[in-house]
Amino acid sequence: METPLSCRNYIDGQWLSAAAGTTLESRNPALIHEVVATFPRSQADDVDTAVTAASQAYRSWRKVPAPARAEYVFRVGELLAKHKEKLAQLISQEMGKPLTEARGDVQEGIDCAFYSAGEGRRLFGQTTPSEMPNKFAMTVRMPIGVCALITPWNFPMAIPCWKAMPALVCGNTVILKPAEDTPACATKLIEIFAAAGFPPGVVNLVHGMGEEAGKALVEHPDINLVSFTGSSETGAFVGATCGRTHKRVCLEMGGKNAQVVMEDADLELALDGAVWGAFGTTGQRCTATSRLILHRDIKEKFTTMLYQRTSKLRLGAGTDPDTEIGPIINQKQLQRVSEYMNIAREEGAKVLIGGEIAREDSLKNGYFFQPTILDGVTPEMRVAREEIFGPVVCLIAVSSFEEAIAILNDTNYGLSSSVYTRDINRAFTAMRDIEAGITYINGPTIGAEVHLPFGGVKQTGNGHREAGTTALDVFTEWKSVYVDF
Ligand code: NAP
Repeated sequence: METPLSCRNYIDGQWLSAAAGTTLESRNPALIHEVVATFPRSQADDVDTAVTAASQAYRSWRKVPAPARAEYVFRVGELLAKHKEKLAQLISQEMGKPLTEARGDVQEGIDCAFYSAGEGRRLFGQTTPSEMPNKFAMTVRMPIGVCALITPWNFPMAIPCWKAMPALVCGNTVILKPAEDTPACATKLIEIFAAAGFPPGVVNLVHGMGEEAGKALVEHPDINLVSFTGSSETGAFVGATCGRTHKRVCLEMGGKNAQVVMEDADLELALDGAVWGAFGTTGQRCTATSRLILHRDIKEKFTTMLYQRTSKLRLGAGTDPDTEIGPIINQKQLQRVSEYMNIAREEGAKVLIGGEIAREDSLKNGYFFQPTILDGVTPEMRVAREEIFGPVVCLIAVSSFEEAIAILNDTNYGLSSSVYTRDINRAFTAMRDIEAGITYINGPTIGAEVHLPFGGVKQTGNGHREAGTTALDVFTEWKSVYVDF
């Protein structure tokens, strides 16, 4: 794909600049002089134009039969599959993740399209007996209205898809506000929605900054639902604003995920899980393994294995097929990860490997941070409690399974979790006692299949689950209907 791309908003079926005419840039995080896209710096008036279009389109879209709405989403899946490689290349260039991961990002969108399209024929309600004679009672799912979809940069295709697709099948219209780091990915995605032939105003895209375009969307009185994925800090603002204006809000936020490795575990398997969990997507995943809770009996051996594997990881541009670890998304995030290294040292943790910005000649033009293992971490340290969002994993030693689960749960977050053990009793105890939205037994903390609920407890979420059939509960309202005859 030829870059830089000149991106625009997509409103009411037209590609538009921001009314004020101002633009921003996204850059390749592996090669920071390379501009990938320019895009509109939208303001409240642009948001208002999009909301008006989406409100107008909603009046007729909600009446299109759900199986017919689903056919548009199915076409999006076909087009994503057709353009998968080009889209993956663009993700790697704009966001930095290695190509194999970028292909997975697009594939998740494809899977989500075909799964969501099936829901068009399964928007089931219920019939129920009435207590009165000659009365028929039933429940039906109703769409919510205009949905604002606010998304992060780390899964620039998958996350917008897993929100937009069920929302559209359910009869809502949508306005996507993507992260300002990945506007080109969002533009190419919405080009595909446009090519699938949705009526004007059903799918809209408004670029811009979170504090401007994002805030204006959240505060707009004619937005009926906000589906937000991002940091807990921004989520707190979004949730509070929606609470004040009685909007439905679905919040998917940060994580501080742990992998437990017990003394009876298959250590090679646990090692694969730890490396992928901690360093995949450069640790920039809400499900990243940022704490490794290791039984003392295997800690030394496992730490050596982890050290050896980590020391061989190849850093590089996402577009380079040999790359295993890509760059950090931007300067601010690189700085934040570096600052956590100072905090770790001050708190008494030991940097076993990494801990620095990568300074090799081939990497110095990008935001690269060395994969890092922090040893001697204790549960009260900030590095064990706060989301770092980089290639950093903390090692915590424990003496028992009970202690491991207690430490795993001792966090404000509750997204993903993992336990490696060969003991079936421990496996089921973990399943019961871990406070998280997702628990893996003998698998890493990452990953989600599109037909299962995805989300977390505590400060990770507000109780909703997108993906799977539970997405229908986010994007529809129940109505009870009584028919007297
Ligand atoms: P972020 O800074 O919170 O941004 C997320 C989105 O919110 C972006 O589109 C951002 O726009 C927008 N935004 C920022 N301020 C806003 C405001 N005042 N009003 C409305 N929208 C606003 O998060 P991020 O750095 O992009 O993503 C990393 C975070 O996402 C991590 O905490 C990670 O754990 C979390 N995450 C969670 C999940 C999950 O499913 N639980 C999945 C992936 C990521 P700008 O980009 O323009 O600032």
